[in-house]
Amino acid sequence: MRRFEGQTVLVTGGAKGIGAATAARLASEGAQVVVADFDEAAATETAERIGGRAVRCDVTSRADVEAAVAAAAESGRLDVLVTCAGIIRDNLIHKMTDDDWEAVIATHLRGTFLAAQAAQAVMTQQGSGSMVLVSSVSALGNRGQANYSAAKAGLQGLTKTLAIELGRFGVRANCVAPGFIATAMTQQTAERIGMSFDDFQATAAEQIPLRRVGQPEDVAGVIAFLCSDDAAYVTGQVIYVSGGP
Ligand code: NAD
Repeated sequence: MRRFEGQTVLVTGGAKGIGAATAARLASEGAQVVVADFDEAAATETAERIGGRAVRCDVTSRADVEAAVAAAAESGRLDVLVTCAGIIRDNLIHKMTDDDWEAVIATHLRGTFLAAQAAQAVMTQQGSGSMVLVSSVSALGNRGQANYSAAKAGLQGLTKTLAIELGRFGVRANCVAPGFIATAMTQQTAERIGMSFDDFQATAAEQIPLRRVGQPEDVAGVIAFLCSDDAAYVTGQVIYVSGGP
């Protein structure tokens, strides 16, 4: 499939994990991809691997995000925005610090707000475009993730509001909510609780109806569908990509 031939795409948090898999998938279908990430070395490596461009960008910075969108829209077009930048700072509510709270809310909620705001300016002008925001099953609540679950639930509300406001300009916004995906993020959780990553994945898989943890490519495929014209009449939706209901 070459669903993104000639299209310009920006993936925030595109250096690693789900973002990198998404950048690779969209590039393999013909897109010109800008990989925006604050890990510049990893962003450059990913961009070189997929034939895209890397931009150093901290999504909590308005100036960085606006520069990344401008770089992606250099040709005057921006067809797709995927916001994957994310961090975790897990702690039970009674131990959660202001820093834990602020860092997670700033990265996920403010970072996505800034990217969506800058992208919609280009997309509404051109009368088309598609955004995919990355939520999580944690939006439904998860022990130790008051900050993260609040941010991920917020992203679902943001998605629906973007869909309502931008639909009449031909711009769609959808959301994926992954479950356990094997990336640096879940590896970090395994380290925090003192389990090997293999054991952590095996234990998680036992609770998942499809009896395996997800891979970044499992999410990338759904994101590609939502960004593509195959989903031309789909907006404001949240799709759980979690190996179960
Ligand atoms: P990851 O750690 O592999 O990738 C996250 C990327 O975001 C990294 O490249 C990192 O450098 C970048 N990043 C972090 N803060 C940034 C900032 N301020 N500015 C720019 N880039 C920044 O993790 P992942 O699992 O691929 O996570 C991608 C998204 O998927 C996140 O939003 C995460 O919350 C979400 N998610 C992951 C899982 C999972 O199980 N791995 C489940 C649900 C949702």
